[in-house]
Amino acid sequence: MKSIRTVIFVSVIIGAAWFGVRYAWNILPIYISSEPQAGAANASQVPVLMYHKISPDPKSGGLGIRVTPASFEHQMQYLAKNGYHTVLLTELTDFIKGDQILPAKSVVITFDDGYLDNYKYAFPILKKYGFTATVFLVADYIGKTNEFDVAKKLEPVNRLLGWNEIDQMSRYGITFGAHTLNHTSLTDITLPEARYEIENCKLVLEEHLKTPTEAFAYPYGHYNSQLEEIVRESGYTIAVTSDQGLVTYGSDPYAIKRVRIIGKYDLRKFINELNKSRT
Ligand SMILES: [Zn+2]
Repeated sequence: MKSIRTVIFVSVIIGAAWFGVRYAWNILPIYISSEPQAGAANASQVPVLMYHKISPDPKSGGLGIRVTPASFEHQMQYLAKNGYHTVLLTELTDFIKGDQILPAKSVVITFDDGYLDNYKYAFPILKKYGFTATVFLVADYIGKTNEFDVAKKLEPVNRLLGWNEIDQMSRYGITFGAHTLNHTSLTDITLPEARYEIENCKLVLEEHLKTPTEAFAYPYGHYNSQLEEIVRESGYTIAVTSDQGLVTYGSDPYAIKRVRIIGKYDLRKFINELNKSRT
């Protein structure tokens, strides 16, 4: 009996030590960075990070498009400690055209769909590090739930941001972009229907926010050259896709590539994703 207890005790100690070492190993890059020191003072390539949900609740979805607040905090802490600073998508438009120089370690943070958890979990962390971000809203679903994905059995029910939270985030400096009225895959509807979704989402957001809505995100990353043209004609200055890569001088402003961050990534994988497309 005594030996069984000893075995259990030793196992627990080894288990705890192993967990501790793994945790320390994961967050070590925050403090000891292998990040290449930027040779040039200006950015030639800028990552646009793509997030969706930031939530600790497994019931809100799997670790695909859900990143835990703990992971998100480590990622933001890493960026802050390694001299990154966030720029807005509108600044990126000028960078692409060659009208604006950005510091070497520039990064854009984006959130798709406008989940309420962005306010609850991501917003305090963004404020803590003085970071900005753009959240893409589905205009007909503000203050509601993500019925557009629930109906297709793609996601469990999640609450979305309401105007109250949007206003608070907006006052801090978070910007809001358009993600259509209904989160419709724009390549699966007619062009006039797509135009309606693209134009009216902008109108709804601008009527409430009283500022121009300049950025657009294609639902499910589905787009083509005709849709790019409609987005441009509707008055947006930039549109993001789910294509993977970095933004450079001369990038197509209506087909901006992003870096997808999913919940399964540990900090090392995050750093790898941040830098892997760099040339
Ligand atoms: Zn979406």
